[in-house]
Amino acid sequence: MINVTKVFLPPKEQLYAYFDAIIARAWVTNNGPLVNELELKLRSYLGVDKLLFLNNGTIAIQIAIKALDLKGEIITTPFSYVATTSSIVWESCTPVFVDIDPATLNINPELIEQAITPETKAILATHVFGNPCAIDKIQAIADRHGLKVIYDAAHCFGTVYRGKSVFSFGDISTASFHATKLFHTTEGGAVFTNDDFLFRKMGLLRNFGHTSPVTFENAGVNGKNSEFHAAMGLSVLTHMNSITEKRKEQWLYYREKLKQLPLQFLEITEGTTNYNYSYFPIILESEEKLLKMVEALNLQYIYPRRYFYPSLNTLDFVTHRPCPVSESIAPRVLCLPLYHDLSFAEQEMIVRVIASN
Ligand SMILES: *Cc1c(COP(=O)(O)O)cnc(C)c1O
Repeated sequence: MINVTKVFLPPKEQLYAYFDAIIARAWVTNNGPLVNELELKLRSYLGVDKLLFLNNGTIAIQIAIKALDLKGEIITTPFSYVATTSSIVWESCTPVFVDIDPATLNINPELIEQAITPETKAILATHVFGNPCAIDKIQAIADRHGLKVIYDAAHCFGTVYRGKSVFSFGDISTASFHATKLFHTTEGGAVFTNDDFLFRKMGLLRNFGHTSPVTFENAGVNGKNSEFHAAMGLSVLTHMNSITEKRKEQWLYYREKLKQLPLQFLEITEGTTNYNYSYFPIILESEEKLLKMVEALNLQYIYPRRYFYPSLNTLDFVTHRPCPVSESIAPRVLCLPLYHDLSFAEQEMIVRVIASN
């Protein structure tokens, strides 16, 4: 069976050495030494100033919204995983959807200003498939209108934009380290900021607002992650260069072998100095063709995923606002299998099934 992705598991000895140390210390969570070591190593690997390791990528978005004290409307993208939208709703804010650019699949900056009202407080955009948003334009709009910017950078591990980690843009960026993501800690996530005030505040929010065992500065939540999850992260991190190299080869192979077919591919944003090869989406001519292709692939035990469907502006629990580009693309997009040990023979077979359908 070939799924869209497969979790990377480090060699047992590497992981078990960390487990032995955790057990010897009998310190399993609450800001332990491995959580600190992972934060330090991620800072240096990614070249970022500040980050907090959290228990998942959804709580990361919620903590970001909370830290910025947002109340009102948040302009967001309809083309992302549901957590981007549901986090806005969960924090009692209103998502206002702005359509996407058909080439990069990210929020279209040219359409943002017409959606701004006196209630607009922020822009929450996803760098879809690790492909950077129009960061400069979005920041200029935010500056002009006094809005905060949060990037859902769940897919962005390793992406570099204009020479800097893409996590270093916006007021806050968030990441997911879920097992299905490029870099993972089983479950996990992070927030990134360059701002001292926000960094301190998010640190408190992560830990119930504790400023001492008996004092609380704000109404926090439990966003902490454990020593076992940090151990997984530290082990996986040492393999990231080879994982990325492998995916780059696979990504380029798909691109080369499929280029003659009537498919649309993701256009990597100009200014991306390092793309992370996190996903390989293809956009078909119609949903009918997509369903037929999925059926043909499933017959060979190949299971691509419909990332991202449905278009989030059509969810039952949001106010519908037409986004014709996203509503047209979401039913026609498919992400092909891409992972560290997908073999060349398997990839050849995937390409063969796609080409014959
Ligand atoms: C995976 C994902 C999330 C949620 O992350 P979790 O760690 O699973 O909570 C949020 N946004 C996007 C775009 C994602 O792909």
